[in-house]
Amino acid sequence: MVYCGRVLDSPCTLALLVGFQFAFVLYFSLGGFRGLVSVLVHSTEPEIDYSRPHDVYTNLTSLLLHHPGPSVPEQQLRDCILPSPLLVGPVSVHLSSPPSLEKIKEKNPLVTLGGHYRPPDCEPRHHTAIVVPYRNRQTHLRALLYHLHPFLQRQQVHYGIYIVHQSGNSTFNRAKLLNVGVREALKEEDWSCIFLHDVDLLPENDHNTYTCHPQYPTHLSIAMDKFRYRLPYSQYFGGVSAVTPEQYLKMNGFPNQYWGWGGEDDDIAARHRRDQVRLSGMKIMRPPLAIGHYKMIKHKGDQGNEQNPRR
Ligand code: BGC
Repeated sequence: MVYCGRVLDSPCTLALLVGFQFAFVLYFSLGGFRGLVSVLVHSTEPEIDYSRPHDVYTNLTSLLLHHPGPSVPEQQLRDCILPSPLLVGPVSVHLSSPPSLEKIKEKNPLVTLGGHYRPPDCEPRHHTAIVVPYRNRQTHLRALLYHLHPFLQRQQVHYGIYIVHQSGNSTFNRAKLLNVGVREALKEEDWSCIFLHDVDLLPENDHNTYTCHPQYPTHLSIAMDKFRYRLPYSQYFGGVSAVTPEQYLKMNGFPNQYWGWGGEDDDIAARHRRDQVRLSGMKIMRPPLAIGHYKMIKHKGDQGNEQNPRR
């Protein structure tokens, strides 16, 4: 038996010191606190390598080759396979000097007038309208359209892109433009999903599908480069999010009274929350952090969209 009576020169103290040293070595060899946590708590996050992205137009020429042509009636098409076999994961995003609208049109020959697309070789399971509040951001718009069209075509969704332009020079109102867009889009088609999409955000992974959850609103831009690929705060709902027409009605649409930058997305998020007055009892669905990657086109604040101090 070891006697630990005198603290400093006893074999017991020595054993404790060696023990501590061993524990430290083990701690760092496991990657510090984070490593330790990831060893103890198994992470469900997929590992995705963004260092070698695919070209955003990958896999689309096959659609042109297999285009059945107008002679094949629509009802003969088989259902599109889920997940789409055309997906590639990380895609390259070019933020500067986007091509002209003519060039974008040329690159997307299956897109019809008004920015609509239907997979030519299968019956789509999802019908998504993308609503983009907009004013005087031609370069951003070209970058978005250049990236979003092929991205959505690889996902085999039936989609339409709606650019809602605020005319004049008065203060910008993003949420009101979204309300206008939802209404106009639903007049045109029976969309099952509506995306609320900032013009300056480009998705980096096509596994982040532009479809809706049947029960709950979805937030997709959860890992933006601007926020170092993390959520800035837990109730953040800005950038790119999605609702079904039913969810939109349940939350009583979006607020019309947010003039200028900020706050309207927080208000929309609050409309879902369980703990709010006049709650709609919905929670926010999100993809894994490793998939919800977006790049934001850097720019100065817009004239007419100054930060709303009362947000
Ligand atoms: C604003 C939001 C904005 C967020 C992230 C908040 O302070 O109210 O509208 O999306 O910051 O930039």
